[in-house]
Amino acid sequence: MSFQTRDGRDWIPQYLISIDPKKCIGCGRCFKVCGRAVMTLKGLSEDGELVNLDDDDEIEKKIMVLNDQGACVGCGACARVCPANCQTHSSAESEAD
Ligand code: SF4
Ligand code: SF4
Repeated sequence: MSFQTRDGRDWIPQYLISIDPKKCIGCGRCFKVCGRAVMTLKGLSEDGELVNLDDDDEIEKKIMVLNDQGACVGCGACARVCPANCQTHSSAESEAD
């Protein structure tokens, strides 16, 4: 499979496939730059369980999680703004193999 920009230049999407919950600081930068609603911010309880932010549960910290992984277009914007180096991306070329 080959991927191209609008005018036909080679372009290899880098899809977001995971976010390390231990490293993520929940800053929200990746969410702001993503135009595809791939991620959502959640709370992490003391027991290590994911909870919605509007729940009353005690939240230890906030983390970004994948919400709709299949919507990712692999633009790489989230990787550029992440200060915690907690995201893993996968090249579309390797996924097409
Ligand atoms: S690579 Fe682009 S589309 Fe995919 S999650 Fe990151 S910002 Fe969103
Ligand atoms: S930019 Fe990085 S540290 Fe900030 S919420 Fe996104 S994944 Fe977490």
